Amino acid sequence: MAKILLRQGDITQIKTDAIVNAANVRLRGGGGVDGAIHRAAGPELNEACQKLGGCPTGAAKTTPGFNLPAKYIIHTPGPIWRGGTKNEAKLLASCYANCLKQAAAHGCRTIAFPAISTGIYGFPLEKACQIALECVQKSELVSEVVFVCYDRRTYQVYQELLHQK
Ligand code: ADP
Repeated sequence: MAKILLRQGDITQIKTDAIVNAANVRLRGGGGVDGAIHRAAGPELNEACQKLGGCPTGAAKTTPGFNLPAKYIIHTPGPIWRGGTKNEAKLLASCYANCLKQAAAHGCRTIAFPAISTGIYGFPLEKACQIALECVQKSELVSEVVFVCYDRRTYQVYQELLHQK
């Protein structure tokens, strides 16, 4: 089982083998964590992304980390919350599962996730954190998972969920 760690801060500073980007389906740098990762990794990241031909919601594609301390960036477009009836929960779970698969395929033992879909995409925070934990907790694909919480509220929600176990 993977060890789970919580950190508050900026995912672009994290030195895991891979960090995950809450991307958009065109893999063009946008706002939020996506914009921060593109700015910190440098312009080569956008060039690499454009060669990938986009990525469907729930899937994941990998690039090098370029100027980041992480070796790889795993890009996954999360679902946009549309009230919960458009398969949002399953799609979010497949983001986490596919990122873990990509990490293992690239020989990564440690991976850091932002709270995918909980910003601009509007997924309810507690539900999203619960899905994230369920997906990674039983995984044997990596040895360590770091949930990087940009805001205090996200950190608190993860902490409460972890202490309930
Ligand atoms: P989405 O479009 O998938 O909702 P966002 O980037 O809007 O993605 O938000 C996802 C989460 O990432 C939010 O919790 C947001 O606060 C957080 N976030 C924003 N910038 C960073 C960062 N530099 N490092 C880690 N998390 C971040």
